[in-house]
Amino acid sequence: MAADNRDRGRPWRRLRSQVIERDRACRRCGASGPGVAYRIHHVVPLAQGGTDALDNLVTLCVECHHAAHGNGRRAARRPVEGTLLLY
Ligand SMILES: [Zn+2]
Repeated sequence: MAADNRDRGRPWRRLRSQVIERDRACRRCGASGPGVAYRIHHVVPLAQGGTDALDNLVTLCVECHHAAHGNGRRAARRPVEGTLLLY
């Protein structure tokens, strides 16, 4: 695990497809199918010591990914100061 977590090159794309192949659906709401856009979510965020290991990655749909980060449509309208550490 010496790889730089910030590297989002080819290895990440491969990991991403591995995670989606494994889950084949959103792990939160179960959405699947050609109309679903998947996002890869870190169970333990990189900023909190998480890794790109497969067991730290889950497939989420776009909606659930937003929700997982507290950026749902409702929340987006009123920014909460102090919680957006990554951006
Ligand atoms: Zn979902």
